[in-house]
Amino acid sequence: MLPIIDWPPCFFGLIEGMQLKHCTWPQVEEYLKHKQTIIQPIGSTEQHGPTGIIGTDYRCAEFLAAAVGERSQTLVAPPLCVGMAEHHMNFPGSLSFRPSTYNAIMQDLFYSFAQHGFKNVFFINGHGGNVIPLQNAMCEWKARHDSLCFYLESWWRMPEVLAYEEQHFGDENGSHATCGEVALTMFSDAEAFEKIEKQNFKVEKVDYQFPLSAKEFREKFPDGRMQSNPGLSTKEHGEKLFHIACEALLERLSRLP
Ligand SMILES: [Zn+2]
Repeated sequence: MLPIIDWPPCFFGLIEGMQLKHCTWPQVEEYLKHKQTIIQPIGSTEQHGPTGIIGTDYRCAEFLAAAVGERSQTLVAPPLCVGMAEHHMNFPGSLSFRPSTYNAIMQDLFYSFAQHGFKNVFFINGHGGNVIPLQNAMCEWKARHDSLCFYLESWWRMPEVLAYEEQHFGDENGSHATCGEVALTMFSDAEAFEKIEKQNFKVEKVDYQFPLSAKEFREKFPDGRMQSNPGLSTKEHGEKLFHIACEALLERLSRLP
């Protein structure tokens, strides 16, 4: 595992330095003369069990992307806050694009990046349901264009993150509303958790096969968790995971041409 580094205090406040939303077009034009990489955070707005926030997936991606962009001086696009979350639609508050809509949105986004001269699109992903639709969209783009190189890192799947979760949460980490992602949002969005009562959950093994319909998902996982006990999540674990994930993402980003 990579060493945990000490971050300067500004990293725990508002991280806005390399955000596209705060640039003028001449600044972007100047940036593109030197660098053609953009970080695109993608996530989802969907239920995360009874004690996780609905913005978990996009907040994790957005929070990590902001820090990684600042650290590497790489431009960060606005997060795509809605993803492909059809299987969560039987839980109030979840929002979703259909896979076909997701593909159409991605083609337009890729066109936008290519049009301005970006060459590398580095996705920081916070939601498993985005992976197949995104890979499909990348394949469709590359079948018709010679532009753009795509890189996809799902932060919770990186071995450095998995090693920490295995050590601290073991079998109770689960695969949705995981201890790790809930912990990261306790660090990124601490104030939201002041209104959420912490609970411990029993983890039971369930047989399932993806894809699941929204009805099937709720029948298999009635409270929204998938074999996780987010009662183990703490802000302190979230802070450690933030450092580990940032270091790992910076290392992946440094490999880009
Ligand atoms: Zn999630």
